[in-house]
Amino acid sequence: MRKKIVAGNWKMNKTFDEAQALVSEVVNMVQDEVNNQAEVVLCPPFPFLSSVGKALGGNSKIHLGAQNCHQKESGAYTGEVSAAMLKSVGVEYVILGHSERRQYFNEDNQLLEAKVKAALQAGLIPIFCIGESLEQREQDLTFEVIETQLKEGLFHVTNEEFARVVIAYEPIWAIGTGKTATSQQAQEVHAFIREQIARHYDAAAAANTTILYGGSANPGNARELFSQPDIDGGLIGGASLKSRDFTDIVKSF
Ligand code: PGA
Repeated sequence: MRKKIVAGNWKMNKTFDEAQALVSEVVNMVQDEVNNQAEVVLCPPFPFLSSVGKALGGNSKIHLGAQNCHQKESGAYTGEVSAAMLKSVGVEYVILGHSERRQYFNEDNQLLEAKVKAALQAGLIPIFCIGESLEQREQDLTFEVIETQLKEGLFHVTNEEFARVVIAYEPIWAIGTGKTATSQQAQEVHAFIREQIARHYDAAAAANTTILYGGSANPGNARELFSQPDIDGGLIGGASLKSRDFTDIVKSF
């Protein structure tokens, strides 16, 4: 059976003290209230990874993730962070290909191919993000865009490597806009993603891949989204910055 995951993408938010306060609230709430088998992943900004990891204290339900990594192992790349560095401070997951990275930092599928490779080589689990813009959806290009992003950015990895990858479907028009995809819209794309996996790998790979939905997920819509057959959890932005909302989403299976 594939894993259910709720990952919190804190983006460029919180100071050190605020991050510490948030993680300790989440740890307490998840400990006390969460009985389901969902795995929780917290993805704070780079400077807080170590301290947030310490606050998790080996908690078996909550794991540490980063929001990006560089594609090279090490070297003269001022300001960058490698996958091996992340691994060495206890990071297990790394978000790659988030639409904000694609849009503001010009990350294309070719670069993401290299980042996915680097992450897997360092022993990290990529959370590979894909999704269409509003314009692309309106022009009926959603499936085409998704297929290209998967093919060019992700499907070069081997079967064994692919078994460790998590995918997040995040329609760009739903990110931070309060405009969630309907559960039918999301399910339709998730099913399509699974079909593509079956085509490029095999049916077992398709059945075993965790596919998350992201884009204005909140405690009010998470249950409906997570009840869809091909939605295995969520990548949560805004609502992950509030411990109550985030925990309620984790409880929504
Ligand atoms: P949002 O962000 O939940 O604030 O829409 C999701 C994401 O960008 O991962």
